[in-house]
Amino acid sequence: MAVLLGCIADDFTGGTDLAGMLVKAGMRTVQMIGVPQGPLPEDVDAVVIALKSRTCPVDEAVADSLAALAALRAAGCRQFFFKYCSTFDSTPQGNIGPVAEALMAALGTDFTIACPAFPANGRTIYQGHLFVGEQLLSDSGMRRHPLTPMTDANLVRVLQQQVKGRVGLAAQATVSRGAEAIVARFDELRRSGHAFAVVDALADQDLLAIGAACTDLPLVTGGSGIALGLPENFRRRGLLAPVESAALPATGGLRAVVAGSCSIATLGQVAAMSARHPAFNVDPIRLARGEDVAGEALAWATDRIRREPVLVYATAAPEAVREIQEALGVERAGSLVEDTLARIATGLVDLGVGQMIVAGGETSGAVVKALGVSGLRIGPEIDPGVPWTVAIHDDTKPPLALALKSGNFGSPDFFLKAWNALQ
Ligand code: ADP
Repeated sequence: MAVLLGCIADDFTGGTDLAGMLVKAGMRTVQMIGVPQGPLPEDVDAVVIALKSRTCPVDEAVADSLAALAALRAAGCRQFFFKYCSTFDSTPQGNIGPVAEALMAALGTDFTIACPAFPANGRTIYQGHLFVGEQLLSDSGMRRHPLTPMTDANLVRVLQQQVKGRVGLAAQATVSRGAEAIVARFDELRRSGHAFAVVDALADQDLLAIGAACTDLPLVTGGSGIALGLPENFRRRGLLAPVESAALPATGGLRAVVAGSCSIATLGQVAAMSARHPAFNVDPIRLARGEDVAGEALAWATDRIRREPVLVYATAAPEAVREIQEALGVERAGSLVEDTLARIATGLVDLGVGQMIVAGGETSGAVVKALGVSGLRIGPEIDPGVPWTVAIHDDTKPPLALALKSGNFGSPDFFLKAWNALQ
């Protein structure tokens, strides 16, 4: 069976967020890391291709997005979704507008929507204006974002600056009347020469109605909130099974945690796990001296890991990190630790680890790359924003479950309890 929904996300964590939404709505979902090199898995309902196209040069964002679209079309997807941040992170040059227009041209469609609303996270749109909690986007912290400062909350105006086609509004008064009224407004906008509708949304029920109104649009664009309404369209047409918790393929093997995050949540999680299980500290100063810390860690783990989960961590308190960064430089310290943890993670898998937690965004990126993982099948959530996944990698190797935790996520007992969610 072919894939139903093909998604392109403009960054990795945004992709994970979207994939999690789709899984909750009952779609079997994989997240691919970057433009896929080979064919996509076909035993799933949705594929999310996570790019790094939010702030790169426009041409690169367009080229990568078109390459991702080609891969999704080859997998037979029936509808396409371009996912960006719920605060519409972009500049007058792009990349949201130019990417959306390039995708529209490639798909031969003249109309789409733009709806970054995510009411559950306080992102609402009223009369085309995006709010973050009680503040206009332009009064929120996004005003001073280092890469994509958002100084105008009027999305019709913001998007119009980025695109050639005309941008109109489907306002709350229409949205609150439900899917049919929204479709009628889309038709009206399209007939009057508009290529985009910014769509108001104040609550999840608006997102569901907008989702239903998008059933015949080849391309939908927005935040992960709007994905809430899309799966039901496929279900109504008998293409998607009823909602059930997304089951992952079974994994086994030994258990390990690799932590390279120094965020407060991770510090607590490392302390909690060290109190219960063997823990090995990776000292960046020793790495800088050229000592074989990775080899030492793996020798240390060899017997211990057969009895219980082990922890390998570089995690340190802020003062210690500052000292190390002063001694080695921020970048050198970071890359020494990332490379070493990635080597240790690979070695642990060779020792028989089949279920691994990695803490830290950059650290996860390094580990996934070293392991040759091209994508992740998304499974149940352990804590908000952190699902178990199963790696898509060399299929002659045993299955590997990965939980990639961004630094500040998860409860203090995350490293102890996460395993339970696999059974
Ligand atoms: P987070 O998700 O918490 O931001 P990341 O993995 O993205 O975690 O970033 C943490 C960075 O800090 C990585 O580059 C990592 O290599 C580096 N790092 C980890 N431990 C130390 C340490 N003890 N001293 C200095 N840098 C460290």
